[in-house]
Amino acid sequence: TWGLQGKTVIVTGGAGAIGRAVCEGFAEAGARVAVVDLSQEACDRTAADLGEGHAGFAANLREVSRLPDLVARIESTLGLPTVLVNVAGIILRNPDLLAVTEAEWDAQHDVNLKALFFLCQAFAARLVATGTPGSIVNYSSQGWMSGGFGGSVVYNATKGAVTTMTRGMARSWAARGIRVNGVAPGLVETPMLVNADTTPEQVAALEASIPLGRLGQPADHVGATVFLASDMAAYMTGAMVNVSGGFLMY
Ligand code: NAD
Repeated sequence: TWGLQGKTVIVTGGAGAIGRAVCEGFAEAGARVAVVDLSQEACDRTAADLGEGHAGFAANLREVSRLPDLVARIESTLGLPTVLVNVAGIILRNPDLLAVTEAEWDAQHDVNLKALFFLCQAFAARLVATGTPGSIVNYSSQGWMSGGFGGSVVYNATKGAVTTMTRGMARSWAARGIRVNGVAPGLVETPMLVNADTTPEQVAALEASIPLGRLGQPADHVGATVFLASDMAAYMTGAMVNVSGGFLMY
């Protein structure tokens, strides 16, 4: 029913907090996972922890001209990938819009949006060329609805664009049998949100804003992600699934 047994699944940001949990979810579902992240060592370690049949592929996703080659390397090692999960993303907080730099703008747009688009393109090109159906799951953020807080205005603009892009790709590729959906996490207990600068009072305030009463954990995103990628979601495309403990409801 899930239809993921033996499928090759690409997870970008696979050595990160949420990405690693997502890799574990796909491995448990019987897929062969291609772990993509910046460091080869971190990718290899994650792939090895998943067990046999998985592999790590280091790539700086900002180098978009190399993405077709990345997909080709994955295909020659693990077989044609039919699931792509774009988890990689960066946030460069700057609470003062008057001080946002071009470098901050470019880095967030390059990783969160440009790389996501061109990796989807390279992935879909192989599916179209071989007449193979597949699915894509793109990571957005609650910020696409809220506009965000804490210096995340530019980041949230990229995540709004990811949501729009997810819908556009879903329409464009539906006839090719490629479904495109997304996951929008809320407040997740990762270094992106909670770090050395965060006080217990700030954490308590965040928790109080969440109806389910706690911050999200990386593992909380696995179910929605694996489901959307799987045959169980065969009639879903263009959906952005809200995984936020009720932080926002829409
Ligand atoms: P994370 O920083 O732990 O993981 C992101 C991974 O992406 C890292 O391993 C990083 O090395 C990788 N990456 C960054 N730039 C890259 C590049 N140029 N090439 C290849 N890999 C690159 O972050 P996370 O908390 O696991 O977040 C995962 C996703 O969820 C992101 O898209 C993020 O925007 C989204 N999200 C997170 C939160 C949160 O609170 N943590 C909330 C909403 C949305």
